[in-house]
Amino acid sequence: MPLAASAASAAVAQGDVRLEGVTKSFGATVAVRDLDLEVEQGEFLSMLGPSGSGKTTVLRMIAGFEDVTTGAIRIGGDDVTAMPAHQRPVNTVFQDYALFPHLTIGENVAYGLRVRGRSRAQRQEAVTAALAQVRLGHLADRLPHQLSGGQRQRIALARALILRPRVLLLDEPLGALDKQLREEMQLELKSIQREVGITFIFVTHDQEEALTLSDRVAVFNDGRIEQIGTARNVYEYPQTEFVARFLGLSNVLPADVAERLTGRARLISVRPERVRVLSEEDMPRADDVVTQGVVAEIVYTGPTTRVIVDVAGDVRIIAETPNTHHPSADVRVRRGDGVRVAWTADHAAELP
Ligand code: ADP
Ligand code: MG
Repeated sequence: MPLAASAASAAVAQGDVRLEGVTKSFGATVAVRDLDLEVEQGEFLSMLGPSGSGKTTVLRMIAGFEDVTTGAIRIGGDDVTAMPAHQRPVNTVFQDYALFPHLTIGENVAYGLRVRGRSRAQRQEAVTAALAQVRLGHLADRLPHQLSGGQRQRIALARALILRPRVLLLDEPLGALDKQLREEMQLELKSIQREVGITFIFVTHDQEEALTLSDRVAVFNDGRIEQIGTARNVYEYPQTEFVARFLGLSNVLPADVAERLTGRARLISVRPERVRVLSEEDMPRADDVVTQGVVAEIVYTGPTTRVIVDVAGDVRIIAETPNTHHPSADVRVRRGDGVRVAWTADHAAELP
């Protein structure tokens, strides 16, 4: 869709999609609070957060399905705040796929081009290419109900991509799939995004999914972005307790306990995979933080074993170790054992 070339096109360099001070209220509910967000051209950005944190509302405002209460939205440098949804250079993939049940797969994918008045030959060529991209060319003549969930998901993606939107918005598109298929689709989605080079804004409440897919993750809480950064950045260096706890398991030590161990009275977060359980003969390293405790629980998860240790100050520390020892062997500690746990001092993140 041609956007009017405007003086604002110089702003493209500042981000393909830009939200400036966007607030959205539904009556007394404030769903999104004074949000600033910049998404680069070709970036894969995930909005991650618990249910009700405002992710879908942000997506719907970018799509134009929902007005902003205050603030502005720019796409490709153009102010689209007042532009109707169908004129915006974006397309949306929903969790329920929203395929037309009475149209074949080919007709579903062609639908947007038909509405735009493209010729039959143009549609044919584009549909063939789009179906090849999601590797479902052989299913063009089927109806949606004759496809599996994963296949329907890919068709929804092909249907959105065929219009070559500048930005693709995806609202929990993998939410209906079982875990294994979901993980396959994640890798596929990422490689398709790389191929087409379109900006993807992806909503999920699944932290692993967000970390796997994204160039950057925006962690949402109560209508605000708590932290935005690369997967590594938000996981390894959480800036708030909310982010530390939302992104996987974390040991959060209160400031008084941290002070006793490290000399600094700061709330700290240590990931379980960075904590070691020391045996009696193990010597801590010079830069280790070490504390004593009692094993409260041992949890075998398949790939890892979690040892949960109660330490002084009513704190539980989880140590998670990959099961690289002989498959038939158990871990060497038992419930009730007194143990030392340790981590390298700079493997912990200080929280404000
Ligand atoms: P998420 O996608 O993160 O789960 P939503 O954006 O759907 O969150 O919702 C954010 C908040 O806004 C919630 O409190 C929700 O109840 C409220 N909300 C969303 N849409 C509407 C609406 N159309 N009318 C009233 N409240 C809404
Ligand atoms: Mg939602």
